[in-house]
Amino acid sequence: MADGLSGLGEFEIIGLFRQAAEPGRRWVVRGIGDDCAVLDVGGKERLLVTTDMLVERVHFLRDGITPRQLGYKSLSVNLSDIAAMGGEPTAAFLAWGLTADLDLAFVTGFRDGLLQCAREHRVDLLGGDTTASKSDIIACLSVLGRAEAGEVITRFGARPGDVVMLGGMVGDSGAGLHLALRKSGEVSAADRRRLLSAHLEPRPQVELGRLLAKRRLATAMIDVSDGVLQDLYHVVTASGVGADLDADALPLSDAARALAKSAGVDARDWGLSGGEDYVLLFCVPQDREAETLAACQSELGLRVVPVGRVTQKKHIRVRRNGTWGEMHIEGYDHFKRQE
Ligand code: ADP
Ligand code: MG
Repeated sequence: MADGLSGLGEFEIIGLFRQAAEPGRRWVVRGIGDDCAVLDVGGKERLLVTTDMLVERVHFLRDGITPRQLGYKSLSVNLSDIAAMGGEPTAAFLAWGLTADLDLAFVTGFRDGLLQCAREHRVDLLGGDTTASKSDIIACLSVLGRAEAGEVITRFGARPGDVVMLGGMVGDSGAGLHLALRKSGEVSAADRRRLLSAHLEPRPQVELGRLLAKRRLATAMIDVSDGVLQDLYHVVTASGVGADLDADALPLSDAARALAKSAGVDARDWGLSGGEDYVLLFCVPQDREAETLAACQSELGLRVVPVGRVTQKKHIRVRRNGTWGEMHIEGYDHFKRQE
């Protein structure tokens, strides 16, 4: 990206569009600013629309991911945005740019990974666009989903007193990236597979999103694509509230902990600001916390984890090693320089 943009963050750029776009059609329920746009298509039905792009050298390295994994991931990160609204994904469109040096095996591998992910979530590939690209592979997926009006969960509904919960382990993807970049630290072959798979083939929590939506359990939700801190920040700013986040309570896998110990880093940082975990972060009224834990366990065999509390004060406090401190956001921003 041109140096000139580096002073401007990804979210400031999006803000420039958001301020100017002014959606006027009466069927627009939500426009820019959530995981999906929401359209009223008549009756109780709501149409969800999202699009997300993977760019070579920005999101992946060609020799660090197989074509099959790349196809899988390009769809799964989009399904995660449908999940984050409580929706049921229905259809996908693939627009991509391919460089001349790619071969047939790349195309069929990518196709097979994408279609495997589509089959797992009963999504149909219904169209797209195929073009040449001069130097980098680009894969942009757009996905449609559906939900009933009362089921849609936005980023806007968090209330003081709500419990902040995570739908699963965080930090594995950041740990997987650490391994993929061949940074220091060693783990067993099984841990290595787990961490790399979390990074290269993330599993969107579509079933969890549907369960929370159907039972009206969550007041606000987002998927963790930029790190727990950054994504919690999106929820609290959209909702006009703040939060206390207990970093000591973050669910971290034994594999991530083992790698962090060996590499001499803090595994919590992979969860807080690593990103790409694609687990759901959601807020639940305090009096429904027990019901939520029980429903996720009994219906999905899933242990969701309380990690914080929504507050009235409009900032985020983070507890680490028993001490509360003010937040410093270090999630991924495409135009700010990363370490
Ligand atoms: P997510 O991480 O859930 O994919 P993003 O942080 O990428 O969400 O985007 C935040 C919001 O900004 C979304 O509503 C997205 O659709 C919107 N957005 C991103 N880029 C643009 C753009 N160039 N024009 C209009 N809306 C955009
Ligand atoms: Mg999202």
